[in-house]
Amino acid sequence: MDISIVIPLFNEEDSLPELVQWIEKVMITNSFSYEILFIDDGSKDDSWNVIKSLSEKNKNITGISFQRNYGKSAALYVGFEAAKGDYVITMDADLQDNPEEIPEMVRMLKEDGFDLVSGWKKIRHDPVLSKNLPSKLYNWTVRRMTRIKLHDMNCGLKAYKKRVIKSIEVYGDMHRFIPVLAKWAGYKNIGEKVVKHQERKYGVTKFGLERFVRGPLDLISVMFISRFAKRPMHFFGVFGTFMFAVGFVATLWVGIQKLIALNKHIKAPLITDNPYFFIALTAMIIGSLFFMTGFLADLVSRNSADRNNYQIAEKI
Ligand code: UDP
Ligand code: MG
Repeated sequence: MDISIVIPLFNEEDSLPELVQWIEKVMITNSFSYEILFIDDGSKDDSWNVIKSLSEKNKNITGISFQRNYGKSAALYVGFEAAKGDYVITMDADLQDNPEEIPEMVRMLKEDGFDLVSGWKKIRHDPVLSKNLPSKLYNWTVRRMTRIKLHDMNCGLKAYKKRVIKSIEVYGDMHRFIPVLAKWAGYKNIGEKVVKHQERKYGVTKFGLERFVRGPLDLISVMFISRFAKRPMHFFGVFGTFMFAVGFVATLWVGIQKLIALNKHIKAPLITDNPYFFIALTAMIIGSLFFMTGFLADLVSRNSADRNNYQIAEKI
């Protein structure tokens, strides 16, 4: 099979029939063999029944329905597990992503050697204040931090070689950072294609204000995990040692001052009157805490199921 199209959806009943028609047209024109994999993320509307009736008419359509709403990342994870095509496309179900971009994205994977091609909604048809501007700022930050030169990291329309999606695990809210996960799994040829974007025709956006809190937090944890997941002590140990050393030196200093004063029979002030005493104490406690956290984190990562999960590129 050439292409698997993985489509996560949550309450998108009105868009589905048009979406399927549009995809079918593109697949037939380009004579691709394909499957459309709908992952119904616990929709409360009639989406699942619509998918069932669509799949009766077109045998290339399959679907998985969640018992409840788990989120876009969970839907993508399950879709990636099930995908059988050599090339895997993800797109949103809301008709905002244009299936006519698929042939060129697949060509880039096939001929230009990309592992992943991400869409770039250069002209974006979403609310400016709540979506477009924050997205620009967010993408700029992510580009800086991850050194992946994408303008639109979180575009729903993406194309992957099969082995890329089979070697990454999307979880939590990580659908925003799939290129980071791919790079981290060793797939560095990440390309970008300017794609046409449409206004949402039916339904409403599923991502509201909470993404302003979750996005940045997830970015921090992605960065941390990608650098230190397998060796947390290298992070906590450095900070712990530094803090402890500061505290230790300060303690020595306070102690020596007191000894000198006692020796000279000067009436030395109480150690607890010296502000350095408290700084020293706090620094040593924080330092020890960092160290203990590092040990615990090391124990956790030693026990993680994927501690020896290496991506083998080739064998002879
Ligand atoms: N989606 C999902 N589960 C969720 C939220 C969203 O599967 O919990 C799907 C949604 O149906 C759509 C895609 O993810 O197909 C992108 O969502 P949306 O269009 O609301 O995001 P926006 O384009 O506004 O950023
Ligand atoms: Mg949308």
